Amino acid sequence: MNFKILTIFPEILDSYFSESIIKRAQDKDLIKIQTYGLRDWTTDKHKTVDDTPYGGGAGMVMKIEPLYKALKSLKSKDQRLKAKTVLLSAKGKTWNQQLAQKYSKLDEVVFVCGRYEGVDERIKKIIDEEISIGDYVLTGGELGAAIMIDSITRLLPGALGNAESAIQESHSVPGVLEYPQYTRPEVFEIDGKKHRVPKVLLSGNHAEIEKWRKEKSKMKK
Ligand code: SAM
Repeated sequence: MNFKILTIFPEILDSYFSESIIKRAQDKDLIKIQTYGLRDWTTDKHKTVDDTPYGGGAGMVMKIEPLYKALKSLKSKDQRLKAKTVLLSAKGKTWNQQLAQKYSKLDEVVFVCGRYEGVDERIKKIIDEEISIGDYVLTGGELGAAIMIDSITRLLPGALGNAESAIQESHSVPGVLEYPQYTRPEVFEIDGKKHRVPKVLLSGNHAEIEKWRKEKSKMKK
């Protein structure tokens, strides 16, 4: 699966993508992540990507021309590919596990990361979906792109050490949260009080453990 990130800070996510599961998924060629600097599609000597808003108001708005040119060259021309172009935006559809599952079936996702006060509205004519990662405002879309890439990659066959992990996780079934997890030690003292691992988990009785886990899986409040 190909991820292409269009941003004015092309190196901002390098460290996150070069560790752990996301790194291994790249090493195994399950995913390819490429970042592109939007300023490469500007023509003036200052490489301008923003301008003042029509009608006045605070801050700057990202210009449509460089974004249009960039997307023209970044979007794959191969019609057989299942591809989407996404604008990260606080005004978009809220990202969730069901959307991650849908996106995990695609061949290519191009992310447009906004900055400043946002992007010229005409961007909507050249994207497929506007995605928000939650009801709050971030400084830029890059973290949103990283979150989407992370949650999609976990769902790709071969990305996790144990394929079961992705199936049983919280939100795999909408609103259902995973059962509580414990590891050694069996007893741990917090502020003078001993906290034990539930007995059933030590019993070796798989049917009972399964039953306990089902009971302890919760619906999201
Ligand atoms: N003025 C905009 C508004 O009120 O909706 C916020 C702009 S924000 C400072 C700059 C950029 O960060 C946005 O264009 C978008 O790409 C990104 N961003 C901010 N909040 C986001 C969110 N919740 N989800 C995804 N991207 C977000």
